[in-house]
Amino acid sequence: MKIALIAHDGKKADMVHFLSGYKSQLHHADIELVATGTTGSHIERAGFNVRKLLSGPLGGDAQIASMAATKELAMVIFFRDPLDKHPHEPDVQMLMRICDVHNIPLATNPAAANLMFEQLTKDFDGK
Ligand code: PGA
Repeated sequence: MKIALIAHDGKKADMVHFLSGYKSQLHHADIELVATGTTGSHIERAGFNVRKLLSGPLGGDAQIASMAATKELAMVIFFRDPLDKHPHEPDVQMLMRICDVHNIPLATNPAAANLMFEQLTKDFDGK
């Protein structure tokens, strides 16, 4: 199962904090983490194995959208910063649209991501 992770600059600390709450589950052999470049570096420094794609503004969001379109992703966690401007806003919109087109679970804030991860954890526990 592949999970994509993206966080805008103002939300990268939130992403690391969020993932740290699920460390044992995320070390499950069946989970592969992929992330946009800079987000991936932060996640890696926190001790996770993660495949790093291009940085978001350089096409990383588009790479993740491509994976969503080919149904490679179980879910996308995308902590957007609604209080900042982003040069790659068209890519951000495109990624969210592709998730909706292909019915890929998409969480854009920690509250939603927690709900999705709680379900994932239950699935792994066989409940
Ligand atoms: P980054 O990209 O992880 O390379 O910062 C995230 C984004 O802004 O889309």
